[in-house]
Amino acid sequence: MQLHYIGNASQPSSGGRTLPVIDPSDGQQFDELQRGTPDDIDSAVRAARQCYEAVWSKLSAAERGRLLMRLSARIADHADELAALEQRDCGKPTKQARADALALVRYFEFYAGACDKLHGETLPYLDGYSVFTWREPHGVTGHIIPWNYPMQIFGRSVGGALAAGNVCVVKPSEDACLSLLRVAQLAADVGFPAGTINIVTGFGHEVGDALARHPGIDHISFTGSPKVGTLIQQVAAERHCPVTLELGGKSPQIVFDDADLDAALPTVINAIVQNAGQTCSAGSRLLVQDSIYEPLLERLGQAFENLRVGPAAMDLDVGPLIRASQQQRVWDFLSDAQHAGIPMVAQGQVVDQAPETGFYQAPTLLRDVPFDHRLAQEEVFGPVLAAMSFRDEDQAVQLANATQFGLVAGIWTRDGGRQLRIAKRVRSGQVFINNYGAGGGVELPFGGVKSSGYGREKGFEALYGFTTLKTVAIRHG
Ligand code: NAD
Repeated sequence: MQLHYIGNASQPSSGGRTLPVIDPSDGQQFDELQRGTPDDIDSAVRAARQCYEAVWSKLSAAERGRLLMRLSARIADHADELAALEQRDCGKPTKQARADALALVRYFEFYAGACDKLHGETLPYLDGYSVFTWREPHGVTGHIIPWNYPMQIFGRSVGGALAAGNVCVVKPSEDACLSLLRVAQLAADVGFPAGTINIVTGFGHEVGDALARHPGIDHISFTGSPKVGTLIQQVAAERHCPVTLELGGKSPQIVFDDADLDAALPTVINAIVQNAGQTCSAGSRLLVQDSIYEPLLERLGQAFENLRVGPAAMDLDVGPLIRASQQQRVWDFLSDAQHAGIPMVAQGQVVDQAPETGFYQAPTLLRDVPFDHRLAQEEVFGPVLAAMSFRDEDQAVQLANATQFGLVAGIWTRDGGRQLRIAKRVRSGQVFINNYGAGGGVELPFGGVKSSGYGREKGFEALYGFTTLKTVAIRHG
């Protein structure tokens, strides 16, 4: 039985209700977690506030940094345990679960080193005055986290917030809590004061909503769907609470006819099958210059047919989707594609060992997807790649920008001028040229434009969002 983690202690919910924890690889329940209540959120916010006022805000930046570094080392020691927890909870193949645990190690390492590098400025002003700025923490920050990368998103969001001097109340997804509850215990083990990291589990519309509404929360970091992102903004607007939103994407991979296809193809495939396509930055639209459209699709189709899907512990190319409703969502998209006559080029295979009760979906490559069809407009959040062709640079940019989203764009071309022209014209928070990110990218600021959200997490840039600026002007004659 999993309990909340509040004030460095495991606690049951005040409501006495629980939720099942399901293994996506076989669809079976293997644990229970607390179905939290607004009262539980209130307890967590109080514990956090007390910690902030009495202890955390009095630590020097260097002391905070040392604690974060100790946590990073502790997570590294427990990386296999954390990876195994998240594998079972989220259905991640072993390589992915392990990579996520190591990314978490790296986030705390990065932000440990950043704590004492964040500072204000002195500003030129009138004669007889001195003016400077302080970067101050918000205080108690709320963190609402989705199920697709719990450890990674906790690392970038909570790591950055702590480094900037805040204390945190975290609401993980009801589908993925286990690794984060364990990380909070590890933080207590290495000496984090009670109340620095508090975790309340439960449904979004119950505890997530209560967290966003709580007057004791000074900043909200939300990572999740655009729909819930809108609700969070509405609730936060009632009390003018600042918000960082990391929402979804429908990111294009744009392949020109001069691209190094041997380099591009494995990356294009990985960008849509990693984490079974349940990745905000998934490269889910493939835009290919018409002169190489047919040969590229042929090569890609062969590669898709070789992709194997199965239980997380088998560590194949693709694991299960998170839950039955997500599987149904992907099936609905594919059935719409069929009705619209969108041709399927190829599909991977679900292995025989995959239990019928697991939530599996074979990776699917579709071609000639009309740019305005929902398969080219909406997040599927499954391993489904929508390919379409373009004539020239102008049409490539037009198609790349033709969704409500603006998270990531991948550009594949050897032409240096074109690389920069397209990078400038594409509306997105990130552009990758002849790559699609590697190694977690902990150091690189990340976020979106348009319906992909606003504000940045990851990198040093995140620390500006987790602080507020105070200007101090002194007249000394
Ligand atoms: P979701 O929006 O359904 O849930 C995200 C979190 O919000 C969960 O913890 C959920 O419990 C909570 N929540 C739900 N309703 C709420 C409410 N009314 N008030 C407060 N909290 C509420 O998203 P999801 O299905 O868990 O995750 C998938 C989505 O997340 C996708 O759209 C994906 O693109 C996005 N995502 C974005 C990024 C990014 O960095 N841009 C990263 C990962 C995931």
